[in-house]
Amino acid sequence: MLKDKVAIITGSTSGIGLGIARRLAAAGAHVVLNGFGDKAEIETVRTAIEADYGVQALYSAADMSKPDQIRAMIDLAVEKLGGVDILVNNAGIQHTAPVTEFPAERWDSVIAINLSAVFHGIQAALPHMQAKGWGRIVNIASAHGLVASANKAAYVAAKHGVVGLTKVVALENAEGAITCNAICPGWVLTPLVQKQIDALAAREGINGQEAQVKLLSEKQPSKQFTTPEQLGDLTVFLCSDAAANIKGASLTVDGGWTAQ
Ligand code: NAD
Repeated sequence: MLKDKVAIITGSTSGIGLGIARRLAAAGAHVVLNGFGDKAEIETVRTAIEADYGVQALYSAADMSKPDQIRAMIDLAVEKLGGVDILVNNAGIQHTAPVTEFPAERWDSVIAINLSAVFHGIQAALPHMQAKGWGRIVNIASAHGLVASANKAAYVAAKHGVVGLTKVVALENAEGAITCNAICPGWVLTPLVQKQIDALAAREGINGQEAQVKLLSEKQPSKQFTTPEQLGDLTVFLCSDAAANIKGASLTVDGGWTAQ
C-alpha cells in the first residue's frame, strides 16, 4: 500500500517508534530509523527490517534536541531515498516532579525533544511533501495532549503544544493531499513507562506486576496497555487513501482514559 514511499520515524530504536517503523515497512515504505541505543543492536534491527519486508532501512543518529541534526536527517532521506513522504514525530522523553521542584534544564529538554523537534522536523520535511503534492505527518502526542496529570508539567505542556501545532499544519495544508494528524495514546508498555512503573513500585513498596495494575487502574479504564503494533497499524491507516480527508485530528488510543 505504501510501496516506494519514504518514511522517517523519529525515536524508532525502541518502543512505539519501532512498532510504527515495522508496520510502515510491512506496508512497503522505505524507512529512516532514528534514536539512541547500542549501535550493534540498532544495526540488527535495521537489517532485520530490510530482510523481513524487502525495503530499504537507513539509520540516522540525529539528536532531536538539535535543530541542525534534524534538518540533516531530512536531507539524508532526500539524498539517499529520494524524498520524505511520511514523517512520524515520535521521539519523546519524560520527567516527573512538582512544578516548584521541576529542574529548568529538564523542562528545556522535554520541550526541545517533545515539542520543538516536531516543529523543526515539519519545517524541514514539508517543502519536500509540497513539491511532490502528497504527504503524511503523524505526530505521536499523548492522552497528556488532551488532559493533564500532576507532576508532568513539561510533558503535558509539550504534548498540548503538539496537538495545537498539528491543527495549524493541517489547516495550512488543508487543500491538497498532505495531512497532519496526532495520535494520543494512553499507557503503552515501553521503556519510558517501565521507568514510571519501577518508580511506583519503589514508592508504594509493591512488586512490578502490582505496580502495572495500579498504574493502569488509575487512568486507563480498559486496564489493558495499548501496543506499539496497534499504534503502527493506526499510523499505516492515517497514511492510506481512506484517511485522506482526516486533517488536524487528535485520535485517542487510550482505553477510555480521556472519555472519563
Ligand atoms: P521509549 O523511551 O521506548 O522510546 C523513545 C525513543 O525516542 C527511543 O528510540 C529513544 O532513543 C528516542 N529518543 C529519546 N530522546 C531522543 C533524542 N534526543 N533524539 C532522538 N531520539 C531520541 O518511549 P515510548 O514510550 O516508545 O515513547 C514514544 C513516544 O510516544 C513519545 O513521544 C512518548 O511521549 C509517546 N507516548 C508514550 C506513551 C507510553 O505509554 N509509552 C503514551 C503516550 C505517548
